[in-house]
Amino acid sequence: MKRCNNVTLGKLRKKLSKTAADARRNNGMKGGRPSPGTMIMHVAPDSVVTREAALAMGYTVYRTGKKCKFGHKGWRRTATTRCIDCERIARIKKEILHVETTIVENWRLENA
Ligand SMILES: [Zn+2]
Repeated sequence: MKRCNNVTLGKLRKKLSKTAADARRNNGMKGGRPSPGTMIMHVAPDSVVTREAALAMGYTVYRTGKKCKFGHKGWRRTATTRCIDCERIARIKKEILHVETTIVENWRLENA
């Protein structure tokens, strides 16, 4: 069960700014969890692997060498073509929104 309070919110905000800063410095892959499908991005962060080649080799990530529209390094998911760094940032933002919503809901319940 996820804890939904101000402590969590503070931690999430810190995590978001760190993740966003890492992504801006193109160090985003350091924060990820290596798996067989994403190992290429950790061992050879500057390599260029087309989506087709990545799929053929069983990777879950690929890189065209072009940065994403937010200037991230350009590693994308083969399944969704979404930028890994953008995905990571969006996930934390969603968690923050969830915690904020819960705090407001709890306040409403307690102050009804
Ligand atoms: Zn991005």
